[in-house]
Amino acid sequence: MTWPTTTRKTAHGSRRSSTGSAAAPSKIGACDTEVEKYSHIPEIELFNEIKKFFRSFQTAETEYRIDVMEEVAHLLDDRIQGHIAMDVMGSVNMGVSQQSSDIDFVLYLRCEHDCFDGVGKCPHLIKAREMIRDVLPDTYEFQILDCINLSLVEKSIQEKNYECSATQRFVAYRSMCRPINYRVIAPIEDMLNQDMLFRKELEGSVQSYLKIFSSSSPHMMSLKKYEARLGAIGIKLPESIRTKIRQHINGEGG
Ligand SMILES: [Zn+2]
Repeated sequence: MTWPTTTRKTAHGSRRSSTGSAAAPSKIGACDTEVEKYSHIPEIELFNEIKKFFRSFQTAETEYRIDVMEEVAHLLDDRIQGHIAMDVMGSVNMGVSQQSSDIDFVLYLRCEHDCFDGVGKCPHLIKAREMIRDVLPDTYEFQILDCINLSLVEKSIQEKNYECSATQRFVAYRSMCRPINYRVIAPIEDMLNQDMLFRKELEGSVQSYLKIFSSSSPHMMSLKKYEARLGAIGIKLPESIRTKIRQHINGEGG
């Protein structure tokens, strides 16, 4: 196997909008357009505005990593029962990856057990992690920050279960992160978008978690680091973005 693959092309990256949802294949149609118009809870809107600013200076390394992750997902998709997808976080999500950056992501799998506790002892997760290590070039360090059982999310959406923590996390990741192998996620996100009130209710339930996350020191340090990277290429954060970052790390809404 050689990296990069011949299928890599710039159009791949430009297809994606800042919301992440736009990475959906065109066949998704109307439901996906609705996602674009839908406004999220203020904490998520604020994060996405900051992300949009950083992404407007997206590095080539970021695009390259997205392509590598798409390739990894495609390679593993046939080998993993029930398919595999991801939502990337961190520097790849913000568009500021450098050669030394790790790849942080949430893994989406299907599991016949009622796995809900993220990076726990699920045998499918352990196997998937090994397979990713096998196919991902050694130069890339990666971290699986969470794992979501898509079968459980599907079941909870059908049952309108507001209290399913996997579904709450799924909604938060889908509103903020960058999808890989979106065709696997799309049908579930469409199911969710059939009932926008339900989706918003789920977003509301992660609000307090988001406040803690955005004011956590690793997250603040990352934002400082990203700012420094732009500074290094001569780009100063405009006051408006500075204010948004301040509001964001204080756990405020937009
Ligand atoms: Zn499991």
